[in-house]
Amino acid sequence: MKIRVQAYAKINLHLDVTGIRYDGYHNIQSIMHSISLCDIVDIELTENKKIVIECDTPGVPLDEKNIAYKAARLFLDKAEKSVGVTVKIKKNIPMAAGLAGGSADGAAVLVGLNKLFESVLPLEELYSLGSALGADVPFCIACGCCYTEGIGDKMLELPSLSDNTVLVITCGGEGVSTPVAYGLLDKKHNKFVDYLPKSIEKIKSSILLGKNDFYKYMFNIFEEPIAKERSAVQNAKTVMLDCGAVASMMSGSGPSVFGVYNDILSAQKVVSLLNEQGYFACVAHPTAKRVF
Ligand code: ATP
Repeated sequence: MKIRVQAYAKINLHLDVTGIRYDGYHNIQSIMHSISLCDIVDIELTENKKIVIECDTPGVPLDEKNIAYKAARLFLDKAEKSVGVTVKIKKNIPMAAGLAGGSADGAAVLVGLNKLFESVLPLEELYSLGSALGADVPFCIACGCCYTEGIGDKMLELPSLSDNTVLVITCGGEGVSTPVAYGLLDKKHNKFVDYLPKSIEKIKSSILLGKNDFYKYMFNIFEEPIAKERSAVQNAKTVMLDCGAVASMMSGSGPSVFGVYNDILSAQKVVSLLNEQGYFACVAHPTAKRVF
């Protein structure tokens, strides 16, 4: 038995820190949207009881460090299924880019296995396995648009943006490790002792009302400190805006950057320009909530 699942990348339309918890984790406030850029995950049940990960991209771990492996192990244990699984990942999402590529693959394995086993686990159980794998995994199961807070574990569904919205996703230069990114933030904001988070109300109500002017109110607290460290981020933003983006912002802790465009032709032009400069770049659009 086998199944193919799309593992959609995410972008952050808003990302801020509201404080640091007693255990050192940062509490965040975020709005995430899934996008059409996706890895293709093929899952096949086998009889040998082994979990095997295959991937077309060098650098992706193929052992128990792969989040897809961890997802398969967790699922089989929870559902008490004594079978093997082969997961083949066609990687289209750039790695360590702030696009949640690993989390998307883990989520796809949970969703795919649950389909193969005819929804043996209720959806809430799938989300709770997702949380155990990583903060972004529950969102990558749900897809669409969500507001999240806490350490990314509390989620509220928002209406998805129109799939006519034209986006360009780009990524260049060295990846940014999440602990390094938070270290830069702590330094800049004095460990958030007196930090006042930016209001999220305008972007939230724009999305709730379906006004399509969400891009005017986007914010990412990581953008300024990371752009200072990674010239590729500032350069990508400049190219996006010079080529007609109505807005452009870094996603997550970078270094990926996205642009919002009014027309597909300008978007295709900027993709060619960024490719010429050695960047990964593609046109994408927002995707809706996953149908189970
Ligand atoms: P996030 O936005 O959730 O912080 P990211 O997009 O910045 O994630 P990932 O692409 O998920 O980062 O990769 C981070 C690291 O996770 C990689 O360097 C890799 O070693 C490890 N990893 C484990 N499983 C996978 C996977 N299936 N695909 C990609 N990376 C994986």
